[in-house]
Amino acid sequence: MNTPAKTIPIQKVDDHQPEGAACHAGEKTLLAAAQAAGKSDILERYALDYPKGPHDQPQSMCPAFGSLRVGLRMSRTATILSGSACCVYGLTFTSHFYGARRSVGYVPFNSETLVTGKLFEDIRDSVHAQADPEKYDAIVIINLCVPTASGVPLQLLPKEINGVRIIGIDVPGFGVPTHAEAKDVLAGAMLKYARHEIMSGPVQAPKKGRQQNPTITLLGEMFPADPMGIAMMIEPMRLSVGCSVPTREWRELYAALDCSVVAAIHPFYTASIREFEAAGRPIVGSAPVGVEGTNDWLQNIGHSSGVSQALIDEAKNKCLPIIKNVLSEQKINGRITLSGYEGSELIVARLLVECGADLRYVGSACPSTPWNAHDAEWLKSKGVQVQFRASLEQDLDAVQAFKPDLAIGTTPVVQYAKEACIPSLYFTNLISARPLMGVAGAGSLVQVVNAAIGNQSRFNKMKAFFGAVGHGDSSGVWMEKPVDRPEFRAENKRQLEKKIKLRKAQEMG
Ligand code: SF4
Repeated sequence: MNTPAKTIPIQKVDDHQPEGAACHAGEKTLLAAAQAAGKSDILERYALDYPKGPHDQPQSMCPAFGSLRVGLRMSRTATILSGSACCVYGLTFTSHFYGARRSVGYVPFNSETLVTGKLFEDIRDSVHAQADPEKYDAIVIINLCVPTASGVPLQLLPKEINGVRIIGIDVPGFGVPTHAEAKDVLAGAMLKYARHEIMSGPVQAPKKGRQQNPTITLLGEMFPADPMGIAMMIEPMRLSVGCSVPTREWRELYAALDCSVVAAIHPFYTASIREFEAAGRPIVGSAPVGVEGTNDWLQNIGHSSGVSQALIDEAKNKCLPIIKNVLSEQKINGRITLSGYEGSELIVARLLVECGADLRYVGSACPSTPWNAHDAEWLKSKGVQVQFRASLEQDLDAVQAFKPDLAIGTTPVVQYAKEACIPSLYFTNLISARPLMGVAGAGSLVQVVNAAIGNQSRFNKMKAFFGAVGHGDSSGVWMEKPVDRPEFRAENKRQLEKKIKLRKAQEMG
């Protein structure tokens, strides 16, 4: 338990990684093509908003899933994809896997319709056919990699048809590194549209009318109980929780912009924050997690909202002792590494540390921003290595180096840990999808983490029983005992190296 924290060097992931090559192989070509096709402005914007890291390609699911999910979760909103059929198949599969229960529109193309510009006409026709104000407030069209690289000009679509708003966005894997940031691409585009509507005249009021207290807009998808918990914490300051962005319906965008302060609970919503700042709204980073996190957050929210120190103290005095009490009653006993691509990794890490965990490493596929800088500093001061834009290789190195009692991570990290006989938990489904804020958050993590750590003996038993059976290239079902073939391996390596050399020569030529 007392191994000193150490720093894992950042690796430059080289071209010798065959994994993921399907989406990524032609990145430079696609980027150059998109620039040549008139997408330079949008790609430059993305490069600033979503700076790349040691790896320059998504290492998790297709980023466009983030935008698709935001569109599909909004009522009275149609979402149409424009891209290769294989990409659309994967995206619709994933959206239904996550319970979308909504139709996804698709405008197919072939080389001819792409090159001649007919694809754009097809998209325009399909948007006109869909634009029924009885059914929809908005239609979202998402250009995937190939149409973006080919310069399909969604910005030339009408801004509105029959009163239905038309939002066209480019979400290429070579411009938007994670699906988390792709949520921001659509949320930001919608906020921009809504902000201009507000500036042009009266807009719809919220369904239940405007709140009496000044409101706090919450930025980021979070567990449904968390906004309620936050509402209770800020109530003594005479503040209310407003809408969460991404919103569930169009008119909530107006209410979100009509707030007194924006809480960037998830810190990667750069384009959305730009719109809130343009509307003159102050932004507060981090989240009310644990005692210290909640104390800082309440102070910053109260201060930014112009609340008196007496009321801020009242809010703190009401919840901090309870959180402290919950945290003192139960502790996490064990060393942990944590990695994920949801963007909420740092606030979870803070909570783990306050729950007593010996946390050594937190890797986030999302970038460092002004809104998570404080969390990063806090974690570093506790001896935790913080890695933004973490690559899968760095996350795996952390598990190998720190030999944790529990590895919390993405699917491949969890798989790696399990193979190494280390208990593990999948971050997205088992950690980020639970209450994290305030009192509820303090109580929610300890049980699941300690239960997972307690599984070590089961892992040991399984390892002892199965031994090396089914490991590496001898895994699977065999009719005979697998025979090692080092000569095949050498030949395969030679072929791979040849391919890499050829690709490099083509790139240089
Ligand atoms: S849209 Fe791009 S990143 Fe997404 S699956 Fe297709 S090729 Fe990959």
